Amino acid sequence: NSASRRTSAPRVLAIANQKGGVGKTTTAINLATALAAVGEKVLLIDLDPQGNASTGLGIRAADRGVTTYEVLSGDYRLEAAVTETDIPGLVLAPAGVDLAGAEIELIDADRRHFRLADAIEEFAASEKGAPITYVLIDCPPSLSLLTVNALAAAQAVIIPLQCEFFALEGLSQIVRTIETVRTRINPDLELQGVVLTMHDRRNNLTNQVEDDVRGHFGDKVYRTVIPRNVRISEAPSHGKPALLYDLKCPGSQAYIQLASEVIQRERTRPKAA
Ligand code: ADP
Ligand code: MG
Repeated sequence: NSASRRTSAPRVLAIANQKGGVGKTTTAINLATALAAVGEKVLLIDLDPQGNASTGLGIRAADRGVTTYEVLSGDYRLEAAVTETDIPGLVLAPAGVDLAGAEIELIDADRRHFRLADAIEEFAASEKGAPITYVLIDCPPSLSLLTVNALAAAQAVIIPLQCEFFALEGLSQIVRTIETVRTRINPDLELQGVVLTMHDRRNNLTNQVEDDVRGHFGDKVYRTVIPRNVRISEAPSHGKPALLYDLKCPGSQAYIQLASEVIQRERTRPKAA
C-alpha cells in the first residue's frame, strides 16, 4: 500500500540551475559518489542531453543502452535504463542526445510534467529499485520541460552556484521557478541548499558575491564551499568522479564534506505528519 511504500521511498534531489557551466554535473557525480561511499544506495539520473554525467562516470555514448529519453517517452521503464557503474552502491540512468527532442515530443503528451516522477515511483516499488535511498537528478542548463520533470519528481533541490557577477539574479530566477512548481505541480518541493562552486578565496568578486548570497539566503547556503581545483576538471576525461581520481585533492574533500551536510539536513528535516 502507498503508506508503507512511502516510508521506504528514496529521497529525490534535483541538482538544478538554468545556467550552464556552474558545476551541476560535477556536483551530481561527486555527491552521488560520496553518498555511496558512506553506504547509501544511489541512483543518478542523467537528464541532460549532453550526457556529461554519464560520460563522467565512464559510460561512453556507444555503451549506453536504454536512456532517459526512452523512459520519458514511455517506451521503457526506468529499470531498463539503470546500469551499474564502477562505484559500488551507485547506479546510473544515462542520457543521450535524443533527449533534446523530448521537449517537443512531449508538448501535448499526457502527464508530460510527471513522466520522470511516475518512472521513479514505479522503479522505487520494484525489486531493483527498492534498495535505493537517494535519487540524484542532473538537470540540463535550462528551465525547460526536462527540468520541470526533475522538479516535479524531486522532494528537494540543490542549486550549485558559481560566485560571479549576476549570480544573485540567476539564483532568484531558479528560486522563482521552484516556487512556481511548488504551487502548481509539486507541493512537497523544497530548496535543500545552495552550494558555492569553483570558489576562489583570492578573488575579491568571489568573496563579495559569497557575502551577498549568504546575506540573502542565510542558512540555505551550505557552509562547505567547493574550491576551484584543477583535479576536479581533469577527472571527467578519465571517466571517473574526482573522488576516485584523486581522493585527497581539496575538491574531493569538499564534496565529502558537502555530502555530510546534505545528510545532516536530511536528518534534521521536519518530518511530514
Ligand atoms: P554544469 O553541469 O552546470 O554545466 P559542470 O559540472 O559540467 O557544470 O562544470 C563545468 C566545467 O567546470 C567542467 O569542465 C568541470 O570540469 C569544471 N568544474 C566544475 N567544478 C569545478 C571545480 N570545483 N574546479 C575546477 N573546475 C571545475
Ligand atoms: Mg551539466
